[in-house]
Amino acid sequence: MSESCILSSVPARPEGEPWPVVIVGCGAAGMLAGIFAGRGGVRPLLLETRPKPGAKIRVSGGGRCNVLPSQSELDDFHTEGSRNSLKNLLASWPLAQCRAFFERELGVALKVEDTGKLFPLSDDAGEVLDALLRELERVGGQVIGGVRAEELVPLADAVDGARFEIALSNGARLRARSAVLATGGLSLPKTGSDGWGYTTAHKLGHVVLRRYPALVPLLCSEARWNELAGVSVVARLAALRGDKLVGESTGDLLFTHKGFSGPVALDMSRFLTGPEREGVELVAGWHGLSVVDWDERLRKGGTRTVLLCLREWLPRRLVSVLIDLARVHPERKLAELSREERKRLSTLLGACPLPISGDEGYKTAEVTGGGVALEEVATKTLESRRVPGLYLCGEVLDVTGRIGGFNFLWAWVSGRRVGQSLASPLPQV
Ligand SMILES: Cc1cc2nc3c(=O)[nH]c(=O)nc-3n(C[C@H](O)[C@H](O)[C@H](O)COP(=O)(O)OP(=O)(O)OC[C@H]3O[C@@H](n4cnc5c(N)ncnc54)[C@H](O)[C@@H]3O)c2cc1C
Repeated sequence: MSESCILSSVPARPEGEPWPVVIVGCGAAGMLAGIFAGRGGVRPLLLETRPKPGAKIRVSGGGRCNVLPSQSELDDFHTEGSRNSLKNLLASWPLAQCRAFFERELGVALKVEDTGKLFPLSDDAGEVLDALLRELERVGGQVIGGVRAEELVPLADAVDGARFEIALSNGARLRARSAVLATGGLSLPKTGSDGWGYTTAHKLGHVVLRRYPALVPLLCSEARWNELAGVSVVARLAALRGDKLVGESTGDLLFTHKGFSGPVALDMSRFLTGPEREGVELVAGWHGLSVVDWDERLRKGGTRTVLLCLREWLPRRLVSVLIDLARVHPERKLAELSREERKRLSTLLGACPLPISGDEGYKTAEVTGGGVALEEVATKTLESRRVPGLYLCGEVLDVTGRIGGFNFLWAWVSGRRVGQSLASPLPQV
């Protein structure tokens, strides 16, 4: 889409006719809804707070945009709603077809990295965004940039079929036959998503579940961990409530000046910020190993010293902290450790408590957990069960994915579903 096609004011409609569809939010989900509505013959108007659309796509994946995962399962996603509904929704656009949309239909060549994530071959998020905007323009979509929807009001009995009136920040008022909330969540508010979609959905009578920062770096106020800033290590993080394992994941953990980050910390953060957070503690199995694995390794260590053995597997600075915490002399030979010492050491190596004091919040969170309950929309169409003609897609709904392209996958799949529903409305299910 050329810059000139991003309008700054509302284009006139013939004789005040209502717009067929107004999509609030021109992010990943809104663009897909617009593209598929347009392909089905319904020309959409998109409203976007930011002067330029797709700000979050542009910064995603460190500016490279992790467009999709190379494999996907239901367990890669989280919702408090029906997992069966989510399964059906995800199945509506299989990953291979979604990938083909980007590669063959939009012409964005993708590559798979060792992590299993798909990035554009160009390593440029801008290429993905430009391709989406070009397609949106091709199918007749129009975007008004730098304009915020302030209020969305359902209309009763409008003679011309208008079902909504939308008040804009520039004072204009639009009427539309259908409306879409593709407003994103609360994460990274500077990209334009400020939670308006949740407030509006709530005002219109929808159940909006408690929101929380998900995929967010965790805070720790203990200096000994903060001093490891910059160290990266493979860890198996387990979320425990008492003795009960509530979740686990293995991957790279990054120590920061403020706490813990890296893919595995982000993936596990929801257990400390989400609905399951009560009484949950995080423990780390360094090098991805359990207490039993480490105990066995220490037993087989023979005449090697504690220091030498651990340095073989773990970063030097982390080893110093662990040896210190375990109160074991670094030069002790492993074979000479007392049972008690070996137990202290293997417990710290396989189930090391991470003292979490909070999280970095929406300022750095990649997504928002919670949101409009899945039960509030019809699974087949994503039309609101409470307000006919209103559709929801993307992060505003209560679905989050783990790190690795799963959140975009949800935005693309749900956005497409809405676009198709707009083009050929089905009876509510
Ligand atoms: C730093 C960062 C990196 C990320 N990297 C990745 C990645 O590599 N891979 C991945 O899968 N996911 C990634 N994500 C997550 C991904 O960006 C989101 O899941 C996805 O963008 C959600 O799409 P959406 O369209 O629902 O919401 P958004 O992309 O947030 O779009 C919503 C749009 O609606 C607009 N809007 C909101 N309210 C209004 C209003 N009242 N009026 C008009 N416009 C409004 C906003 O300005 C915004 O442009 C990342 C997120 C962040 C923060």
